[in-house]
Amino acid sequence: MGGYETTEEGSVLSRDAPAADDGAAAMSAPAVAESAAASPFVHSRLLDSVASFTHHRDIAALDHSLVLSLAELTSAHRVVLAKRATDGAYVESIVRCVPDAQGAYQLQADDPDRVDPALKLLHRCMHRLEVQMERVQSVHRLVVPILRDGRAIGALQLDSDMPPATSRPLADGFARIYANYTGLLHESERDKLTGLYNRRSFERQLQRLLHQREQALRQAAMARPEPSEQHGMLAAGPPQVWLAILDIDHFKRINDNYGHIYGDEVILLLAQQMRACFRRGDVLFRFGGEEFVILFGATEQAIVHTVLERFRRRIAEHVFPQVGSVTVSIGYAGVGRHDYPASALDRADKALYFAKQHGRNGTYGYENLSARGLLGREMAAGSIDLF
Ligand code: GH3
Ligand code: MG
Ligand code: MG
Repeated sequence: MGGYETTEEGSVLSRDAPAADDGAAAMSAPAVAESAAASPFVHSRLLDSVASFTHHRDIAALDHSLVLSLAELTSAHRVVLAKRATDGAYVESIVRCVPDAQGAYQLQADDPDRVDPALKLLHRCMHRLEVQMERVQSVHRLVVPILRDGRAIGALQLDSDMPPATSRPLADGFARIYANYTGLLHESERDKLTGLYNRRSFERQLQRLLHQREQALRQAAMARPEPSEQHGMLAAGPPQVWLAILDIDHFKRINDNYGHIYGDEVILLLAQQMRACFRRGDVLFRFGGEEFVILFGATEQAIVHTVLERFRRRIAEHVFPQVGSVTVSIGYAGVGRHDYPASALDRADKALYFAKQHGRNGTYGYENLSARGLLGREMAAGSIDLF
């Protein structure tokens, strides 16, 4: 038997091997004739799909469009896109596309931590960086890795009636376009020194978290019987997202005493500490210079305060090479559903300013300071550049 074998364990085909030749044999004569005759139409559909999914600037929208395009082009039973975190080997997100009872494709986000036997090949593919195939009765399962810089940033699984000889070039091509295009998007939204999100991506990330939170609340409200309660939950309520601004204390002194190279090193090490300390779902930004922003979704104020305080202490106790001790000041505020991003930043910045005026190396929440009447008129101008 040639290109691939169907085994209990699934099968492996090297990425460099020619696309399964027995797949070509398996392609029925009418299918070949049909694909040749339909060629210009198929090509234009393909180009349409590529044009439509690379139209997106938002990676989540791009993910959806990719799986939907591939599902529609192949009339798949299921298409799954798994993506790995930028800084780790764990799977960060899974999007699947399956037809509903009427045959219309529906997108679903899956919990990446859930163990699903149907995704076994997908995990193996990312681990081995190799195409995986298996046949489950009449359904061909094909999984191709999405590779960037020799690393699998994710994998694409296609369950369809199409033999691999037909589906593999398509899946491979989509995976390569996706890797290149998301590479460009990734560069444009990240800070070069630290790899954290840059300031340009702030509004989009904030909207994403607010939207996610709203969806979760909507689902929770739908599960409840009383319509008035549903309305109440969605109309107002406590902050949905928390926003913290963190600024290194007396950073000018570090630059002056040790030079900019050491200053940059401190910024880099601080970003690494942030990655290690905050959770997966928290969104980390370098806003510029030695200022950082963190967005927390679906968390209570007390937890946000504890987490930020723990980070502040961790930095104060850390010994930075050559420079020694470094401290940070932190201000945070809640973000409501209809908040302007600039207003939320301004509130967190007022709390940061308070920290700077009160000994630095501290964590303060805007709501708390405000309730205690500690934010006077002098707070009107914060320290961060809002525009
Ligand atoms: P404060 O405690 O009030 O925050 O004092 P500070 O000295 O940290 O003051 P401020 O935040 O206003 O100044 C930050 C300095 O950081 C100004 C600038 O020279 C320096 N800086 C900005 N961007 C960079 C960078 O990318 N690398 C390095 N090494 N220094 C930077
Ligand atoms: Mg500073
Ligand atoms: Mg600063």
